[in-house]
Amino acid sequence: MQPRKILVVVMDGLGDRAVKELHWKTPLQSANRPNLNWFAEHGATGIIDIIGPGVRPGSDTSHLAILGYDPYQVYTGRGPFEAAGTGLVGERGDVAFRCNFATVDQNMVVVDRRAGRIKEPDTTMLVESLSGMSVDGVEIVVKEATEHRAVLLLRGKGLSAKVSDVDPHTETKIHEAQALEHEAKKTAKVVNHFVQRSYELLKDHPVNQRRRREGKPPANILLPRGAGVFPDIQPFEERYRMTGACVAGVSLIKGICRVCGLDVIEVEGATGGLDTDMVAKAKAAIRLLDTYDFVLMNVKAADVASHDGDADLKVKVIERLDEMAGIIRSDMPEGTVVAFLADHCTPIEVKDHSGDPVPLLIYCQGMVRDANASYDEASCAHGGLGRLRGKDVLPILIDKAGRSEKFGA
Ligand SMILES: [Zn+2]
Repeated sequence: MQPRKILVVVMDGLGDRAVKELHWKTPLQSANRPNLNWFAEHGATGIIDIIGPGVRPGSDTSHLAILGYDPYQVYTGRGPFEAAGTGLVGERGDVAFRCNFATVDQNMVVVDRRAGRIKEPDTTMLVESLSGMSVDGVEIVVKEATEHRAVLLLRGKGLSAKVSDVDPHTETKIHEAQALEHEAKKTAKVVNHFVQRSYELLKDHPVNQRRRREGKPPANILLPRGAGVFPDIQPFEERYRMTGACVAGVSLIKGICRVCGLDVIEVEGATGGLDTDMVAKAKAAIRLLDTYDFVLMNVKAADVASHDGDADLKVKVIERLDEMAGIIRSDMPEGTVVAFLADHCTPIEVKDHSGDPVPLLIYCQGMVRDANASYDEASCAHGGLGRLRGKDVLPILIDKAGRSEKFGA
């Protein structure tokens, strides 16, 4: 059999619980979804504990599992993946932090943790003034991220991620980074030095002088948090002998995929918000199947509606996701192995991720159909794929695609 292409469609935060205002149905059960149900009818379904039963996944750990990695082995904190989301992919051993541009007074008391929600191009100009720094032989790289966020990367000998946050997370005096293990003393010193220098370089920066004139809070300091070391991840292509690409709007998901070695393809109109162009994303993913063996696409919108606790909005988003599934149904190359799943549940009632299992469906030509013809949380629990772990999904897809290796003779 000719090896087939694999398309994984992650509908972020799709899964839910029974919602009172939807007459105790889930948003997915309440939505009109002819295309997802068509795939369910012609394929097989199941449910997945993305990490493990009852474990609440982050979108980062969940995507590592969906890519077939064991998150407990390769996840080293959010910092490195956020850095990679901006395009700053470090090497093994580099330490990365998430940062906020913030406003502090002369006593280093935080006045505004987000510096008036400063964004590009102001942040880009501020970051330029921080480039090329090094402390104690440690190279320091800063890059702006979305809105008031930035990432900080340290490269050098003897670094450790076991340092506490400088960001106090409230409007109080900033913290000093503390070494949480003996080997982290140098890193803590470098971080504290960097924070002090950021204040000196930013406080009278022309961008901040202008912001003061406009009555906006100056972004006069960078506050690092969430240190993590760049993990030693076996690249996707080497691990699975497949080329891979990713289409996503959210920076963190792009970062996960980049660190795993997937090519991240930018698509115009593909954002991480409710306004994302799902049609453009699906069409781009389908085009990528011409050149790549594996494509992962993430659509964040259902998760955004869930975090807002808006059940009706989530139903509407799911109906748009179904239209997107219709494009995949009509346009995907013949023989494609396609999986639809969520990376975690984000129940409307909780407004955050939960540890509930998520619905899975797999479709390809010639597969054994199960008795379930509906894509929703309850129906998929009766599906022929049973109950799986997130990291079990990719091996199944690889086998359906005729790309698995025989174990034994
Ligand atoms: Zn997510």
